[in-house]
Amino acid sequence: MDLVGAPIPPKPATFTPEGAPPGVTPMLTALRGTDGRAWWESRPIIRPRVAIVHTNAAEQEGSSQSQINWGNAAPANTKPHYAINQPTPMKLVPTNRRAIANSTEDWYEKEEDQTDASFWTIAIESADSGTKNDPQVSDFLTVSKHGPVPVPHAELVARILAYESIVWGFPLAPPAEWDGTGVAAHTHPFPHPAYTIQEGKTCPGPKKIRTLFDEILPRAREIRQAWTAPDQTQTPPPAPTISEVPDMILVRNAEPHQFTDGKTYPAGNIVWELVHGELRHVGPDEYAALTTLPITGAYTNAQLARIPRYTKQLTGTVTGTVKVG
Ligand SMILES: [Zn+2]
Repeated sequence: MDLVGAPIPPKPATFTPEGAPPGVTPMLTALRGTDGRAWWESRPIIRPRVAIVHTNAAEQEGSSQSQINWGNAAPANTKPHYAINQPTPMKLVPTNRRAIANSTEDWYEKEEDQTDASFWTIAIESADSGTKNDPQVSDFLTVSKHGPVPVPHAELVARILAYESIVWGFPLAPPAEWDGTGVAAHTHPFPHPAYTIQEGKTCPGPKKIRTLFDEILPRAREIRQAWTAPDQTQTPPPAPTISEVPDMILVRNAEPHQFTDGKTYPAGNIVWELVHGELRHVGPDEYAALTTLPITGAYTNAQLARIPRYTKQLTGTVTGTVKVG
């Protein structure tokens, strides 16, 4: 797998706590509260500064539906912000609401004089091939028993991290302290009791931990840089000043004729631009992009004035020596 250097996915139109990057579908009403509303609506508002990556660690590869079913089965069951399962990688909870996946031991909170990690972290769940099949827990999926995987899950996690780091401003690097700011795996580099209350937990497993730090984070930085770079395509070029608007020099070349630039130009009309006193030859292709008027033929100034690039046209017929430049 080589994530860095792959094509940059299209930049999302907006970056919001409810939105998601390309390849991930917001499904913010899939998890329901006991009152029938979307589950997140009853959750405390948070301001996350660490994103934490998990693995499902189910006995078999979980699907998008099994992830939702598990979340809805009991109030305390895992309800992550993101769930990267097939066939639909999902955002389930807005990232400005407290999810259920990351939790700090009470005694550690007191010792550290810190609140529970769920109040300042994002939870990203991801499917694996199932702990029954792989005791080491599989890497991020590139194939799934629940259908095609159009975007490898490691790439989706990189997009999610880039997206949320733009929304919230956290760095795409491991936090220096467990309660700092950045991106971590559930038990690495800070094991129990920082983000889990289960002693001995190894989530998301050695393969995903290596992939997260060695491949996903560099890719996430690459995507974020591209998405935050000044947009060249949407800024119109500045209007030229009056002295930069070219005059067109249209020359009637009665027969093939050598000009003083050393070239022989064919019979017919030849176009130069005069900008700041400099003559620049406009080739047939460039001319054709300016106007539907054929370059050969005799035109009146009124016809030439339909070419919007020029303020005025100067025409003449070549009979003797034409000085160019
Ligand atoms: Zn976990």
